[in-house]
Amino acid sequence: MPRIVTRAVIFALASAAAVTIAMILRPELRLAARAAWNDPRLLAAFADDARIRYEPEARACAAETAALLPAAIARIEAAHGRPFAQPPTVGVYASFDNYANANGMGDPGIAAVTRAGVALLSPTLCGAERVRLEGVLTHELSHVHLSGWRPPGAPRAPQWFTEGLAVMASDGGGAEGVSEDDAAQAIRDGFRVMLDGRRWIDFAGLAFEREPPRDPKLDALTQRQRLAYRQAGMFVGWLRRRDETAFLQLLRALEEGKAFDPSIESAFGESAPSLWRRFLSDISQPSGAG
Ligand SMILES: [Zn+2]
Repeated sequence: MPRIVTRAVIFALASAAAVTIAMILRPELRLAARAAWNDPRLLAAFADDARIRYEPEARACAAETAALLPAAIARIEAAHGRPFAQPPTVGVYASFDNYANANGMGDPGIAAVTRAGVALLSPTLCGAERVRLEGVLTHELSHVHLSGWRPPGAPRAPQWFTEGLAVMASDGGGAEGVSEDDAAQAIRDGFRVMLDGRRWIDFAGLAFEREPPRDPKLDALTQRQRLAYRQAGMFVGWLRRRDETAFLQLLRALEEGKAFDPSIESAFGESAPSLWRRFLSDISQPSGAG
């Protein structure tokens, strides 16, 4: 074998070994690689509709999702004030294992995830949690909409904003079981979510000013997450009602890939923390609970 080829082979083997070692050492790389291998866009399209990709065993769920999709898309386009950049893709799963492999978290317990601009739905949404399908589908489409416009590599908005936007746009998808009245009362009682840079998918990592009380009958992490999502959704709705033009200006700036802090300040003339304090003060008025 010519020496140059030998060198190329050794280099390729060394590179493959380095990638393998990096993936073993860094779980997130391993999860990302697994998700790429299990990309829902590799699944069959449902009934000639390339927007819905499904596992063969999830045919009935794909049909139910397809029936809900047009209204969910219309709702998100109205809330975000603009069409989708490209038709959204939704992956529908029958196997919790396959869903976990594809969702980039390796976790079958999350109801839905938007990854690489594609919404992935857990089998639970056509099973035990069927009542949540429409809301969660619409919620995920809000994430798909924003990521579809954002240039690759552009900074992401803080997760409290993108989750609050998705909850608001889907009329409560992802915040089921916590009403606006419940969340407003929690705010008045000091159980306020902290709007910082934490990952909101890491439910245990969510921070509140005071730790909210737990209903022992319900899952503790789910309760914290839904209260946080509902409070963020109410704040985003409050921003929109406060100044619709500024709100849409902020969305357009984020879609262009601009950074969040200067964009909200330029749109509303105030920083996010300052607007949050105004919102809290409005909610804390006895008549301002709505
Ligand atoms: Zn979300």
